[in-house]
Amino acid sequence: GVTDSRPASGAGVAGGQAEPAIEAHPAQAFGDDPLLVRDTDHYTDEYVTGFVEKWDELIDWKKRYESEGRFFVDLLKSHGVKSVLDVATGTGFHSVRLIEEGFDTVSVDGSPEMLAKAFENGKNYGGHILRVVHADWRWLNRDVHGEFDAVICLGNSFTHLFSERDRRKALAEFYAVLKHDGILILDQRNYDAILDSGFTSKHAYYYCGEEVKAEPEYVDEGLARFRYSFPDQSQYHLNMYPLRKDYVRRLVREVGFQRVETYGDFQDAFSADEPDFLIHLAEKS
Ligand code: SAM
Repeated sequence: GVTDSRPASGAGVAGGQAEPAIEAHPAQAFGDDPLLVRDTDHYTDEYVTGFVEKWDELIDWKKRYESEGRFFVDLLKSHGVKSVLDVATGTGFHSVRLIEEGFDTVSVDGSPEMLAKAFENGKNYGGHILRVVHADWRWLNRDVHGEFDAVICLGNSFTHLFSERDRRKALAEFYAVLKHDGILILDQRNYDAILDSGFTSKHAYYYCGEEVKAEPEYVDEGLARFRYSFPDQSQYHLNMYPLRKDYVRRLVREVGFQRVETYGDFQDAFSADEPDFLIHLAEKS
């Protein structure tokens, strides 16, 4: 066994257990001044059940498959990858996709709720039993043992780290679980475009036709606060760190990766003329 695959609390337990609704749908808590919430540890409070389920319900996986195409699958295959550690499992989209493509996949997340949801999704989409590990990236090697051909950190997840110290620590941990010739694939929103284009022209992004709108509500060099609006008028927020492209490339090299290549978009679901997402591919040797 390469990993400590003990399920997160809730994962592996049959769904449908009745819980008081108030527990099942906690509200997002940003306090009196949301703009002051610039904390790496806050991510587990932001992905509350209502938000996560609405997102999964509306952005259906089939459409995501289509917009993403074979980009990551082909990239991994072209590097001879067989084993993958998905460090930002979320609700499991990429883990399930990779399992279906035959990759030996282990799924990590720092949020037990997310892992439980991913586990349930794995069963529902094709009857897959996800191997899940509850771990924070900063202490990844405490919980995950083994060497993987690839680490993937997708869906604009690295943006949840609010200090450079946390970013370096996480990248060093990703580096350490890789084989000597392993690769890291990490994506991010194109924050340079948002930071540099001025307030008036900040982009709104539409998903799933025009149904889900994601827009920056506030941006400075240390915070990008996004508002997500759903067709039923509900709104949720995420506070993220606006990673500049060249900064991320530099950090990745500084923790030891030898080469970094950055790709532009592969998907259609945005209104800007520049890439919405950037994808970094880093090679350990
Ligand atoms: N990759 C998935 C996707 O694209 O659908 C989900 C990405 S979701 C935007 C980001 C995930 O990263 C969340 O599930 C969150 O719990 C996790 N995460 C954020 N910071 C983390 C950390 N420091 N350690 C472990 N997981 C973290």
